Amino acid sequence: MALMRAPLRLRPSPAVFLDKDGTLLEDVPYNVDPARIALAPGAGEGLRMLAATGLPLVVVSNQPGVALGYFSEEALDAVALRLGELFALHGATLSGFYFCPHVPADDGSVNCACRKPADGLLRQAAAAHSLTLEGSWMIGDILNDVEAGRRAGCQTILIANGNETLWQPGPLRVPDYIVGRFDEAAAIVIAQQGWHAAHTQHLRAVA
Ligand SMILES: [Mg+2]
Ligand SMILES: [Zn+2]
Repeated sequence: MALMRAPLRLRPSPAVFLDKDGTLLEDVPYNVDPARIALAPGAGEGLRMLAATGLPLVVVSNQPGVALGYFSEEALDAVALRLGELFALHGATLSGFYFCPHVPADDGSVNCACRKPADGLLRQAAAAHSLTLEGSWMIGDILNDVEAGRRAGCQTILIANGNETLWQPGPLRVPDYIVGRFDEAAAIVIAQQGWHAAHTQHLRAVA
């Protein structure tokens, strides 16, 4: 499910995919009340830093509260709106908000392609926004975010803030970077993008 209109992009661009709850926002389970939406520690500064990279910023979120009947998909419009306001307050633009409205079965199995650790949300966003998944980033607070990013071919950053408790291992559940806060994740993206830009310039210079 997507709640933003995709812009026309002349050339495919990498993006930064952001988990919402516990990564960008303080984790308030099943919350859709805009008044109770608050940025996580370091997220405001981190958004300002990510905005400086020029990369599209796309939120990808599991929202099983829809299938559980706790709230409607329409209620997420207000969440997306508030997210957009918070991005703007910190000089950033919310390029897309993609969510999985489904719920896992009682045995834990998932019957959709979008619930993280699947990578369907990232692929939906990539198709709609002309994004290249290779070269993109996924930032999240649990290993399911890491796996979704790895499945899509992104570089991954885990914010190890205590929200992951199971640490279920797997070859796709190893993050490229582990940090403690959102702004530290943003600093890694900046450093790597900066290196990439400088390296590309260097290659042009010697060509
Ligand atoms: Mg999370
Ligand atoms: Zn789904």
